[in-house]
Amino acid sequence: MTLHIQDGVYRSSMDDAESFWSHQADKLSWHKRPEKVLQRTTKTLKDGTTHDHWTWFPGGKISTTYNCIDRHVLNGNGHVTAICWDSPVTGLKEQYTYKQLMEEVETLAGVLREEGVKKGDVVLIYMPMIPAALFAMLAIARLGAIHAVVFGGFSPPSLAQRMEASRPKAIMTASCGIEGNKGPVGYKHLIEEAIKMSSFKPQKVIIWQREQLRWDPVTKEAGERNWQRLVKSAKNRGLKAAPVAVKSSDGLYIIYTSGTTGLPKGVVREAGGHAVGLNFSIKFLFGVHGPGDVMFCASDIGWVVGHSYILYAPLLAGATTVLFEGKPVGTPNAGEFWRIIEEYQVTTMFTAPTALRAIRRDDVENHYFEQVFGSRGGLRTLRALFLAGERSEPSIVEMYQRLLSKYCAGGAMVIDNWWSSESGSPISGIALSAAAGKDFNTKYRHTPLKIKPGSAGKAMPGFDVRVVDDDGNELQPGSMGNIVMATPLAPTAFTTLWGDEDRFYRSYLKRFNGKWLDTGDAGMIDREGYISIMSRSDDIINVAAHRFSTGAIEQAIASHPDIAECAVVGIPDSLKGHLPFAFVTLSTHEHPHPAVPNEELFREVQKNVRGQIGPIASLGGMIQGKGMIPKTRSGKTLRRVLRELVENATHNEYDKEVQVPSTIEDADVVDVARAKIKEYFSHKGKDLHKAPEARAKL
Ligand code: AMP
Repeated sequence: MTLHIQDGVYRSSMDDAESFWSHQADKLSWHKRPEKVLQRTTKTLKDGTTHDHWTWFPGGKISTTYNCIDRHVLNGNGHVTAICWDSPVTGLKEQYTYKQLMEEVETLAGVLREEGVKKGDVVLIYMPMIPAALFAMLAIARLGAIHAVVFGGFSPPSLAQRMEASRPKAIMTASCGIEGNKGPVGYKHLIEEAIKMSSFKPQKVIIWQREQLRWDPVTKEAGERNWQRLVKSAKNRGLKAAPVAVKSSDGLYIIYTSGTTGLPKGVVREAGGHAVGLNFSIKFLFGVHGPGDVMFCASDIGWVVGHSYILYAPLLAGATTVLFEGKPVGTPNAGEFWRIIEEYQVTTMFTAPTALRAIRRDDVENHYFEQVFGSRGGLRTLRALFLAGERSEPSIVEMYQRLLSKYCAGGAMVIDNWWSSESGSPISGIALSAAAGKDFNTKYRHTPLKIKPGSAGKAMPGFDVRVVDDDGNELQPGSMGNIVMATPLAPTAFTTLWGDEDRFYRSYLKRFNGKWLDTGDAGMIDREGYISIMSRSDDIINVAAHRFSTGAIEQAIASHPDIAECAVVGIPDSLKGHLPFAFVTLSTHEHPHPAVPNEELFREVQKNVRGQIGPIASLGGMIQGKGMIPKTRSGKTLRRVLRELVENATHNEYDKEVQVPSTIEDADVVDVARAKIKEYFSHKGKDLHKAPEARAKL
């Protein structure tokens, strides 16, 4: 059987990584060409532990900003639209060509230099989704400095934590952010409070004034500066900064992982590998080649997906990126994403499954997709809908695949792809333009591999993904286990944590004695190489010595047409150790009030679980409720919080405090869950769910 071109490209990246990535590196402009493609060394930690280390493109010098902007302008593409900003929350829209973007960025870089920022300094960005945020990232990179974007809207303690860890020279911020339809949120007190809390104090705070809510007063003595005034003065003086090249292994940015577990870690992205790997993936995987292609990534610049696919990758390709300041629902309605596709003729869209679930909840009939935009041909430009951030259950993939096949470009696909802050680009997926893996200039779009709903596709070039047991032994295809990777990782991926080599080893390499890098995810790889991510390893439920992933059980529950959303956790059981326990939100127009679902629904859901997984995975119980499933701001379900709440309930400790990470989107949701659990237990619990052992009373 002939090899599909995606498989062929992958194989060449594994068989001869050096020539594969050397070919990809040739597509960029280097201030100094790398001396080698890959260098492998050993690192020794303070306690004498040694582990493998690697560096991509050693000896090379590169400017990411030059490659994202100047290169295209110099190639005669200055007139191409680089950024389309669409802000339903303010009613504003703006567009910038590459030439205009260059002017903004070189001026802002000049301003930052005057304010004392230089190569190697860290600058923290705390911004809403406005063009100035993208200018800031690019201007910092232009000086060879390192940006650390913190999601705009994080509370002062989370901001202070990241300030202390990254020690920024300056903060770039705005007077306010606008969270959906809740109106403006002032940033002044958030920033000032965070600076007060942090033992490290940045020298400057540069503020983009927004008309919706101004930062008043701007106190010069406290290092505060009015961003627009500085830029205006710089423009009058013709102040500009040329791109500063940095070493391939120098940091371009630090990003803190979203933290569904524990303290956030500062992942460092290295300049050379990042540019090469992203420029490759945007073409190969996302099918975005250059002018004429329009990418709409509905993430936030605070997350890695936003860094890579709102900003850097589309600009490296010379394509157009849509920057969206709004929400999938409520700004003003569940048709907003589809309006954006129509208005900007989007060719590739990227979002998280949680956004699609929110849309499905508000628009059960897909009225906007079909009747409003689809039927008038408004979505015909769309070639693919990429999904990541969380597992996509087959039912949501299948539903959107049906919609795309009917209303979007011929052959349009829904593509689940798996990755992390650590990887910097997808570790797995289905390549939309696999032929670009061999030749970027090809216009030929080979038929992609088929998708398998529930799977996040096949390993991407450069990522050597395996499934192993707890001792690190590889498992047979189709067996569930720990998903790990052999090093080196592909060029976009991290090689260390910011200022914490020990934690890098402890968190990722120690578990398998340096042999494998632990991704923290559990799942399987089938015979054809398709990878399914079933849950975080910590979320595995052990029922009478059988291990189940939350993802598999959630998938069975979500296949019931009345379930809009669900989360499964383990509840202690005196007989079996643990039982799966479900939290569900219904998709019915009027959500029922009681926490205990009606018996028929529970029976049907139970039947799905028993039928699709097996009687041993039968649910121990199910609670229904709206606004009850806690999530991080990046859309990941916080199962750990629900697990703690039900565990406490089995000890009659309903009101006991639980650990809620600072990344939570809406802390009130935890109170709703707590109340629902209490209500459920008072009806059902008591004898049904009892902790096997009493807790020690301290
Ligand atoms: P973050 O570093 O915050 O982007 O989170 C990365 C984690 O999100 C991964 O380790 C996975 O647990 C989860 N994740 C991302 N994409 C997917 C996907 N397509 N399917 C399942 N889980 C995913």
